[in-house]
Amino acid sequence: MDSNAVLHRIELPRLISVGDGALADTLSALSVAGVERGSRVGIVTGPHVWQLYGHRLRGVIEDVVEAVVVSVKDSSIATAKDVARELHEAGVEAVIGFGGGKPIDVGKFSAWKLEVPFISIPTSPSHDGIASPFTSLKGSNRPYSVRTRTPVAVIADIDIISSAPLRLIRAGAGDLVAKLTAVRDWKLAHRLKGEYYGEYAAKLALLSAKHVIEYAGSIGRGSREAVRVLVEGLISSGVAMCIAGSTRPASGSEHLFSHALDIVAPGRALHGEQVALGTIMMMYLHGGDWRKVRNTLKKIGLPTRAHDLGIPEEAVIEALTIMHRIRPDRYTIVGETGLTREAAERLARVTGVI
Ligand SMILES: [Zn+2]
Repeated sequence: MDSNAVLHRIELPRLISVGDGALADTLSALSVAGVERGSRVGIVTGPHVWQLYGHRLRGVIEDVVEAVVVSVKDSSIATAKDVARELHEAGVEAVIGFGGGKPIDVGKFSAWKLEVPFISIPTSPSHDGIASPFTSLKGSNRPYSVRTRTPVAVIADIDIISSAPLRLIRAGAGDLVAKLTAVRDWKLAHRLKGEYYGEYAAKLALLSAKHVIEYAGSIGRGSREAVRVLVEGLISSGVAMCIAGSTRPASGSEHLFSHALDIVAPGRALHGEQVALGTIMMMYLHGGDWRKVRNTLKKIGLPTRAHDLGIPEEAVIEALTIMHRIRPDRYTIVGETGLTREAAERLARVTGVI
C-alpha cells in the first residue's frame, strides 16, 4: 500500500497551557470547548486530589458553569461506564479529567461515550495519556490503550504537578525513555510488514525521550524546572500519537512487556516503572546501547532490577514469553512466535533485570 495515497486525519488539542497557575486557563479551555455560561460540566477526579486541589478548580469555574463532581478510585471499565452514565443523566456539556492517570482515563472515556469535549487537567506527570486520544482501562478484554477522544485542551499547572510524589515524576520519565524502543519497533514493523510509518511523529516521540534524558538527573531530584521539561515531553508524546493516529510512536515491545506483567504480576509497580524495565531488555534485543538506557534510568532514580519493584524473577521470565500474544496486530522485535523460556531468562539476566 502506498502510504502517500492514504487519507490521514489528524486531530490535535486546540489549547495547551503549561506553567505555574495554568489552572486559571480552565476558563479558556471551557470556551475553546464551546461550553456556554450556566452549563453543566462533569469533573472526574480522585478523592485525594479533590481534597487537595478541588477548591482551586472550583474557585476558577464556579461563577461560570455548574460542576458535577464524580470521584473515582479505580480506572476499571465498569467504573468508567458507571461514570459515563451518571454524567449523561446529569446532562453535562463537557468533561474535565482532573487528577492522575485514573481520572484522566475515566474522564476521557466518558467524554467519548457522551460525544462531548474533554479537557485534561493532570495533577501528576506519571504517563503520556494526558494529551493523547488513547485510554487505558482495567478489566477490558484488551489490556492496552484504545482510541477514544483527543482532549480539546490540556491544562498543566506546574505549581500543582511539581508537588506530585517523586515516584510518579520518575515513572513519567520512564514512560518517555520507552520511546527509544517504541520507535525502533515501529520502524521494524514498517520494514517487515509494510505498516504505515510517520517519520514526523516518530521524530517527535524521540525528541520527547531525548529531552528528558538530557534532564535525567534533575528529574530524579524532582526539581521544578525538570518537572516542566517532563510535562512538556509527555504532552509532545501525546501529540505524536495524535499525529500518528495510533500509539505506535509511544508504545512498542517495552509496553507489551509491561502489559504482560500486568497479567502475571498485577499491581506491583507503576506503568512507567514497568515499561522502563522493558526498555532496557528490548533495547538489548534491538542491538542498541541498552547499558546507556539502564544508566539513564538510574540517573532518573528508577529501579532497574525487578526485585526492587517487588516483581518476582519468574514473573519477568513469564511476561517475556507471553508478551507477543498480547497484541498480535502490533509487530515488534519479539516477532510473532516470541521468546523461548531459555532466551527470556538469559535476556533478563544479561541485562541485570533479574
Ligand atoms: Zn506508556
